[in-house]
Amino acid sequence: HAKNCGKNNAKLYSSSLTMQIMSHVRLEVGLRRALQNDELYLLYQPQLDVRSNEIVGVEALVRWRHAERGVVSPNEFIPLAEETGLIVPIGEWVLRTACNQARHWQKLGRRPVRIAVNLSAKQFKDENLSQIVLSALHDTGLDPRLLELELTEGTLMDDAKATLATLEQLRGIGVYLSIDDFGTGYSSMNYLKRFDVRALKIDRSFISGLPQDSENAAITRAIIAMAHGLKMIVVAEGVETGEQLVLLEEYGCDLVQGFYLGRPAPPEAVTGMLQKLWVPVAAR
Ligand code: C2E
Ligand code: MG
Ligand code: MG
Ligand code: MG
Repeated sequence: HAKNCGKNNAKLYSSSLTMQIMSHVRLEVGLRRALQNDELYLLYQPQLDVRSNEIVGVEALVRWRHAERGVVSPNEFIPLAEETGLIVPIGEWVLRTACNQARHWQKLGRRPVRIAVNLSAKQFKDENLSQIVLSALHDTGLDPRLLELELTEGTLMDDAKATLATLEQLRGIGVYLSIDDFGTGYSSMNYLKRFDVRALKIDRSFISGLPQDSENAAITRAIIAMAHGLKMIVVAEGVETGEQLVLLEEYGCDLVQGFYLGRPAPPEAVTGMLQKLWVPVAAR
């Protein structure tokens, strides 16, 4: 009887494993077609300059509208895109679409808005990266100074020499660089000094417990002090409450991003925000 049971378990296990693999394969096949089927789209999340109360930047965040599954989160399909190499064409599409949108906003003519685009490690290592960035800028007519590329600590720490060369190429084009999810990966302070990085984005995990969590408050203040000492600006991610915003302003944080200011939204929804000063929820 015990033997039977084990067998059944093995069968159960293997069939659920098979199902997992099949679902993975299906997702991969779907992702291959997503681009040509027009199933990818971008949402945009505003970044507020705490001192001027203006939206000065917008982060582009990709979504996949899947025929059966509905909207698939990038946390689910970006790793798959990385594994399969699909991240390169997908990333290029994201870059072009975002630059085009930023150019459109720029033509509306108010103050300039910087667009931030996430780059995954594999894109960063692609030898055609600077060519892809250059042609996206050229074809859309976007000023390179209005494009910011977000990299993670992991991407930067990988291979010092190649990393430095790529960063120099990108800076040569005139685009800006920022470090995303700062504080969650490995970073050498020595690197921060050598890389020409405009901004550190403090990871949401440090912000979410504020103002109560005194350890995260200490870390947040330390990151801000260090960044300013190195002539970088600081963006706080994941700001969800007015209290957090007030505290971050007190700490001297430069930009904030999070649900409190606005969730990632379609471009038309963001356009309105770019044209006026930001007003706190309580005062609306
Ligand atoms: P990320 O670059 O750190 O983007 C911030 C994520 O936090 C976004 O999740 C955003 O929706 C979410 N977020 C923003 N404010 C808040 C808040 O106040 N509270 C909470 N709980 N969450 C907030 P999203 O859009 O699901 O993206 C997840 C990750 O997927 C991104 O993290 C980024 O690493 C990656 N990703 C998104 N779009 C792209 C892309 O076009 N290319 C690449 N390579 N990666 C992307
Ligand atoms: Mg990001
Ligand atoms: Mg982040
Ligand atoms: Mg991230």
